[in-house]
Amino acid sequence: MIIVPEKEIGGLVTREAAFDAVESVFAAMASGDAYNFPVIREAIGHVDALYGFKGGFDKAGMSLGLKAGGYWPNNLDTKGIINHQSTVFLFDPDTGQVSAMVGGNLLTALRTAAASSVSIKHLARKDAKVLGMIGAGHQAKFQLRTALEHRDFEKVIGWNLHPEMLPNLEEVAAEAGLPFEAVELSGMTEADVIITITSSFDATMMGDHVAPGTHVACMGTDTKGKQEVGVDLIAKATLFADEIAQSISIGECQHAIADGSIKEADITPIGAVINGTHTGRMSDDEITLFDGTGVGLQDLAVASAAVVLAKAQGKAIEVEL
Ligand code: NAD
Repeated sequence: MIIVPEKEIGGLVTREAAFDAVESVFAAMASGDAYNFPVIREAIGHVDALYGFKGGFDKAGMSLGLKAGGYWPNNLDTKGIINHQSTVFLFDPDTGQVSAMVGGNLLTALRTAAASSVSIKHLARKDAKVLGMIGAGHQAKFQLRTALEHRDFEKVIGWNLHPEMLPNLEEVAAEAGLPFEAVELSGMTEADVIITITSSFDATMMGDHVAPGTHVACMGTDTKGKQEVGVDLIAKATLFADEIAQSISIGECQHAIADGSIKEADITPIGAVINGTHTGRMSDDEITLFDGTGVGLQDLAVASAAVVLAKAQGKAIEVEL
């Protein structure tokens, strides 16, 4: 069994490697070569933590396993460690033996940022110039850094419920040499691409905060009850998701499904666009919306890449079973 500790991931898995792994596995999901198992996610009744398992099997990439972990909202304030905590376990699909244990914290941020960027690559207008961010926490920095690599953005704008966190976004924009402007929600109409990445349980961004032609990537809603955008926005957008089953149950589309504003058939897997079996964006006026709920196969894909890289670079720790 191989162990790849959390501290090694940053030196092994690049944003490009994570992007390629996630794009491939979304494609495999849409062509039926890979599937996710139902998600377990529980409020454990202790320190407000949400804990669970996401797993799956990718027959094309031969990845079998799960990610265990979740969200401890008080970690940063009380322990000085990040709120998201997870570990990926990989198994040999031929024997069922455990093959690897891989630190999942940074990998989660990389694979989640890769997912929104895959949607930007395939759905945003080619001439997108302004990137809007809703959310300014831990994941938001990764989201922004990766997204900036997928269009020739000239400016970043941002809104956050807690404005004192906005310097997180300004810092990443500055790394890329771009100006940053804090805006009201009404100012989001300037954006060509918007990423939402908050832990909100109430809709913040509504339909009239989004201009025609915008691509929206909703990345924060990964649990029943969470919500970042208004049902009116979902109802008027062309909808895509990493996985439809998750989108309608734990993703951003759960609310529009529940009130009958949309049907399951209105959502297209992003993998179909990657594979070329769906056109994706049809016009410059269309609002496209990607519901990125976070699937187990993304975790397995980037963890498998980490194991390959760790072995190649002599950073894998081998343990006898
Ligand atoms: P964080 O705690 O670092 O940041 C939380 C963000 O949400 C901050 O911007 C905060 O201001 C904002 N926020 C908090 N309460 C809010 C409210 N009531 N209304 C609006 N905004 C609010 O968290 P993080 O690690 O950046 O994670 C953000 C979200 O992304 C979480 O919900 C997490 O579960 C989710 N997530 C999703 C995936 C995925 O694959 N889709 C992966 C990882 C994390």
